[in-house]
Amino acid sequence: MKDVLTAPFLAELVRTCTNMYAHGWDERNGGNISMLLNASDVAEYLDLKMVLRALPTGFRAETLDGKYFLVTGTGKYFKNVQYDPAANLGIVRLTDGGQTAELLWGYSDGGKFTSEFPAHMMSHAARLAVDPENHVVMHCHPNNLLAMTYVHDLDEKAFTRTLWQMETECIVVFPEGVNVLPWMLCGTNEIGEATAEKMKTARLVVWAQHGIYGAGRDLDETFGLIETAEKAAEVYLKIAHLPWKNTITDEQLHQLEKRFGVNAREGYLK
Ligand SMILES: [Zn+2]
Repeated sequence: MKDVLTAPFLAELVRTCTNMYAHGWDERNGGNISMLLNASDVAEYLDLKMVLRALPTGFRAETLDGKYFLVTGTGKYFKNVQYDPAANLGIVRLTDGGQTAELLWGYSDGGKFTSEFPAHMMSHAARLAVDPENHVVMHCHPNNLLAMTYVHDLDEKAFTRTLWQMETECIVVFPEGVNVLPWMLCGTNEIGEATAEKMKTARLVVWAQHGIYGAGRDLDETFGLIETAEKAAEVYLKIAHLPWKNTITDEQLHQLEKRFGVNAREGYLK
């Protein structure tokens, strides 16, 4: 059995936490990541029959039954993950239709999965239904996207169109746009269900006055989605209060669609 600390999936997740903290997206214990793992990959490092603890989840997620996830811990600081992965991360297997998370490794100080576990698992289920290759769900508090939710209309079409106009590559990176939830109490099954519903039509879901959820096939794709939307929001905040002399027009956005072979969200362009 190999040492799980040498597993590429674990090393990459640790690097991602460190990078997100460096971007200022994950102050204190802000932010959380969950990554779907292949059972055969986990079996190289852990005895799958050795369950350390059985943790109740408080929700059902039938389609995720038997699946393995690497998940950041509740109350843990992203800045510390690199120094003690075993205390800050855990590998769990969902059973009982998602109602129990069997801990196979991690949370070594007696901790458990992130308080946003419902939103993560429900989002995985929603994304897997539209993309069987989806592996990652990521939540964080990027400054500019957060700020934008205070001054911009929260209508999804309007919010998306503004981001697309702020940087040429946006429509190529997230042609389906971003979905937006109004402020809701976090950590609940309700916000989990609402996020998952929004995840059916987009990989990015903004939580107004809180942060963002991203989903993707791997850590790079998911990080890159958030990074691109956050950059666009930064440009918006730099110019929102100034008179605009230019923008990226719908005609130009159509040109980008054609050039890069992407389809903008139906009805979002004239
Ligand atoms: Zn948060």
